[in-house]
Amino acid sequence: MYNDMNCQKTKVCLILTLCIFYSCNNTSPKKDLKEDPSTDLHQQKQTEYALVIHGGAGTILKENMTNELENEYKAKLDEALSIGENILKAGGTSLDAVVSVIMIMEDSPLFNAGKGAVFTNEGANAMDASIMRGNDLEAGAVGGISNIKNPITAAQAVLEKSEHVFMVGKGAEAFAASVGLETVDPKYFYTERRWNSLQKILEKEKSLGYNTTDLPDSKFGTVGVVALDKKGNIVAGTSTGGMTNKKYDRIGDSPVIGAGTYANNNTCGVSCTGHGEYFIRYAVAHDVSAMMEYKGISLEEASHLIINKKLKEAGGSGGLIALDKYGNISMPFNTPGMYRGFVTDKERYIGIYGN
Ligand code: ASP
Repeated sequence: MYNDMNCQKTKVCLILTLCIFYSCNNTSPKKDLKEDPSTDLHQQKQTEYALVIHGGAGTILKENMTNELENEYKAKLDEALSIGENILKAGGTSLDAVVSVIMIMEDSPLFNAGKGAVFTNEGANAMDASIMRGNDLEAGAVGGISNIKNPITAAQAVLEKSEHVFMVGKGAEAFAASVGLETVDPKYFYTERRWNSLQKILEKEKSLGYNTTDLPDSKFGTVGVVALDKKGNIVAGTSTGGMTNKKYDRIGDSPVIGAGTYANNNTCGVSCTGHGEYFIRYAVAHDVSAMMEYKGISLEEASHLIINKKLKEAGGSGGLIALDKYGNISMPFNTPGMYRGFVTDKERYIGIYGN
């Protein structure tokens, strides 16, 4: 009996020792793979090209949506994907794809960018946009502009035609006009839907007696695009009207490189949407790239970590779209929904709600 028990104990010890030995041995090759980019686990390029888009994250619930509106959103997302896909399929650049797709979304009153931009407290539209190129880390951004038809083209002009990265207000408008971008009367940006949202929030403010931007759709609806072209260049862009009822020339994360937008050919491209103040403080777009670079984790892991852990724990709501240099795509959000879609040479997807 005593001998039997001893024998059992010896067996258990042996199994435990083998387990420890196996798990130690099993982690080391993985570590080596991560340390050596040439043996990256995700080394194979998944697709010739890839494009991922968002039209804002927020309290987007099926029960609050009519079939008609849902179909309008889906049709616009589908059109946007097709425009980008045609450019990339034909060998066009990711920069062209990002700008063209964002322009289509800015021209639609459905999104909080360009034509559909939300109103400030003063009843104006003040738009922000940015774009970043992953091959040389060049970037351009504009903030608080009111008369350029497509704010993303102003961000592109800052990138391509100036020695600066970020211009705001009247100066940015003057620069955009000086390089020949299309200007419009600020009234062009009026939409009844966004005007009514401002009135609702102003009424709420009156009854509360203090300033608020707290309405379900007050800060959501931004658009963003990330593209990977056949040459392996990644570009990311974001465009927004910001938050309804914003005051004091408030600017969110969307035009802030590293917060709302980031691209690096060695890691990934990212465009964010959500409560901008959190995205700025957590440098969200750059954090995804940094985690991939420094921790050696995948795009999927890095983007979920920031959206569903770091930001969520801090109370920051929103989401992001991202793709890596291999064409892997990630679209996490911690809100009930996010207008989103992607296309590659193998797949196409459009989504609105969470699971
Ligand atoms: N992030 C934008 C901002 O805070 C809003 C949004 O994405 O909907 O200005």
